Amino acid sequence: METILNIASLGKTYKSAGRALTVLDNINFNINTGSTNAIVGPSGSGKTTLLGLCAGLDSASTGIVELNGINLGNLSEDKRAEVRNQYVGFIFQNFQLLPTLTALENVMVPLELRGEKNIKARALDLLDKVGLADRGHHYPAQLSGGEQQRVSLARAFSNSPKILFADEPTGNLDAETSEKVVKLIFDLNREAGTTLVLVTHDLELAAKTHRIIKIKGGKLIADDKTGNE
Ligand code: ADP
Repeated sequence: METILNIASLGKTYKSAGRALTVLDNINFNINTGSTNAIVGPSGSGKTTLLGLCAGLDSASTGIVELNGINLGNLSEDKRAEVRNQYVGFIFQNFQLLPTLTALENVMVPLELRGEKNIKARALDLLDKVGLADRGHHYPAQLSGGEQQRVSLARAFSNSPKILFADEPTGNLDAETSEKVVKLIFDLNREAGTTLVLVTHDLELAAKTHRIIKIKGGKLIADDKTGNE
């Protein structure tokens, strides 16, 4: 089976106020192309940090992150951003939409960055896919949490990512909206073969994936197949 993400001896130490805090220690796993994966663990165990390192949002202190065959440790921040633009979708728990741009403009940003053509029509298509074609001119503050998360999904889908990372994608949503968002994410896996890596405390969501990786105190403590493969 093909591997899209290879994590070896990964460690992260933050330095603040003259003190070093190791939040990830010797993490090892491979993620298969097209698979669905959950990362679970108590609050503060290092999940968000791990997701950020896997997606190339931050750099590791030790070890290797290899994404789509590219060793991110060898790259400058700019080059990492290029790899992200090309292969990665990322969904943040608090959506992270740009507040001064409309929903449509938020989805257009990555298309513009990639120098694509017909970006307005493409962005409208993406908003349509998440059921928000009629909300394009709304600013994030004029949208509900669930709508903002769907705009952020449309933005994350815009580069047809090979791998989608999501940090607590349903963390701030009610049950009904959460179901819609989960369906959109898993549709992307089924229809486009996009690999999913989801950080979640929602065990029902985790159980929908092929594999559950458990982190505690910065260490990988379990790596279970869920039988959904
Ligand atoms: P989780 O997502 O599992 O809740 P995080 O990855 O957010 O865990 O955080 C793991 C630990 O790293 C926490 O103790 C947190 O306070 C610390 N941490 C996260 N980001 C930073 C940072 N930029 N500087 C210093 N410490 C950090």
